[in-house]
Amino acid sequence: MPDGRQLHLYGAYVGEPSFAVEAGHHEHAFSHRRWHPVRREWVVYSAHRQTRTYKPPTNDCPFCPMAEDGELPVKDFSIAVFDNKFSSLQKDAPRPSPIPGLDLPVESAAGNCEVIVYSSDHRATMGSLPQARRELLVRVWGDRIREAMNLASVQVVMPFENRGEEAGVTLHHPHGQIYAFSYMPPIIGAMAESFREGYDLAKLAALPPYVIADTASAAALVPPFARFPYETWIVPKAFHPNPGTLSATEVSDVASLLARVANTYDTFFGRVCPYVMVVYAAPRGMEKFFPFHIQFQPLLRAPNKLKFIAGVELGAGSFLVDILPETAAQNLRNVEVRP
Ligand SMILES: [Zn+2]
Repeated sequence: MPDGRQLHLYGAYVGEPSFAVEAGHHEHAFSHRRWHPVRREWVVYSAHRQTRTYKPPTNDCPFCPMAEDGELPVKDFSIAVFDNKFSSLQKDAPRPSPIPGLDLPVESAAGNCEVIVYSSDHRATMGSLPQARRELLVRVWGDRIREAMNLASVQVVMPFENRGEEAGVTLHHPHGQIYAFSYMPPIIGAMAESFREGYDLAKLAALPPYVIADTASAAALVPPFARFPYETWIVPKAFHPNPGTLSATEVSDVASLLARVANTYDTFFGRVCPYVMVVYAAPRGMEKFFPFHIQFQPLLRAPNKLKFIAGVELGAGSFLVDILPETAAQNLRNVEVRP
């Protein structure tokens, strides 16, 4: 892109990208991270992100093809990936200076943030995309993880999707994001420890009471220890460190389960279900034991009842759930998904 960011078009597209904006490096205000000595975790500060686009009207959607001042000046495209204009982590983030008077570890917020647009159709959703497009999406996740790992500082890459206003979405065009971290975020760190010690995720796919949809190579299931009322995971039956190593059949099974889960939520709750979907892949050096899988955390516990993350969850990190995972699995399994 003229401002120095990268754009990748996957699959078919129409027209050659022609950017109206002037060439020049886009404004760089670097983020940095500070160590939280009480919680023992990093906090990233990106003061420049406050001015980012907030819910523009549809005709101003920067992810629609040929939108004025948009990110994708092509006539049509399948899947587009580009560096986030308001990136929280930066490939070339410099080492920050220490904070005067404070003995606090401060590091660069090195890494990268990409936006991944699933379709040129503003109204598409994970569940409504054609199966071939969802298969391409799974492939693209694998390709972006592989490329991000080429950056020596990157430790782990996490594609994810926030869906719905309740999940903080400011642009409704179907898209997700891909964060490449130069440090280990605490949740992925805890997961890594568990998998290093031998926790077998694939065994969950063999527990019928928890499985809501099954295929030859992967299952969608409610984990027996779900933290959200209708949390669902997509777990491949064979071990893969990331989506890049899946066979064609496995890609197809994961893609069809993505639709199944997303559509099941909308049908079950009778409305567009806000969720956070996270694609977990092996951090650097953990490719032998950290399994690729996908987690959906829906933010509803009933059609018009949001699951709030409040006092006990935020204050103590202890989740309170008012439905048993067995019951949630049964409810979701019984949903007849609209074709
Ligand atoms: Zn759009």
